[in-house]
Amino acid sequence: MTFCDYREVFFMYQSEGTGRERKGEISQRRKQNEIIIITILAVIMTAVMFANILENPKISDQSANEKEKMEKISNKTKTDGINNKKNKEKRMINKNDWMLVLVNGKHKIKENYDITVTPVGYTQAIDERCYDNLKNMINDCRNAGYNPVICSSYRSHEKQVLLFENKIKDFIGQGYTRKEAKKKAGTVVALPGTSEHEIGLAVDIVDVKYQLLEENQEKTETQKWLMKNCWKYGFILRYPKDKQEITGVIYEPWHYRFVGKENAKMIMKNNLCLEEYLE
Ligand SMILES: [Zn+2]
Repeated sequence: MTFCDYREVFFMYQSEGTGRERKGEISQRRKQNEIIIITILAVIMTAVMFANILENPKISDQSANEKEKMEKISNKTKTDGINNKKNKEKRMINKNDWMLVLVNGKHKIKENYDITVTPVGYTQAIDERCYDNLKNMINDCRNAGYNPVICSSYRSHEKQVLLFENKIKDFIGQGYTRKEAKKKAGTVVALPGTSEHEIGLAVDIVDVKYQLLEENQEKTETQKWLMKNCWKYGFILRYPKDKQEITGVIYEPWHYRFVGKENAKMIMKNNLCLEEYLE
């Protein structure tokens, strides 16, 4: 029974009693009974009013709980959606895509790897399929007020062999045996057949005012801009500081690898290296 029903009964009884009083037909005892009943009704009504007041917060709490539950379900659905999307995106990665070719110490370049390079300036070259992206990145970096210089790009296998041999000679000159020198050379120059430069998808870019290939390169304004924006042009910083264990290559804040815009965005957004992205 609701509050309104009680009130209705009370008013009906009061109306009836008033009529009988006017006719003088009600005994004193009946009057007393009426007072008792009215008092009881008044108490019940008051109790119901209090019950309603107390009940409201409960309803409110219940609503809050239900709301919270609904939000949790809604959030879970959203999270599931994101996970599904992520999985879907991951499933959609085509490892055979030319722009995702994995080249590292464990993955040598295939013998029949085909490549068409296009010149970049007078001394550099890159896979023709990412030429426009590289050109736009360099131009935008310059327009932002910085001075990027490409110091290395496509290298033929023969050139990589020569670089590696020269590095071995350097270490032998420092007193190492040939075996030791070869091992040490492998830590700074990629073994021929395992360098991304041989597939024309990598460029080394430095600041015109600071052209040393060392960790301090990351402090130049050019490098800061490139690290922040490279993904917009489909490039990634290929050998990040915190991924050396996985890439097997030292931190190189100058080596950029083309992987395509969508892949670069995913890799950058999720703080991955190429090995992690493709696993
Ligand atoms: Zn490089």
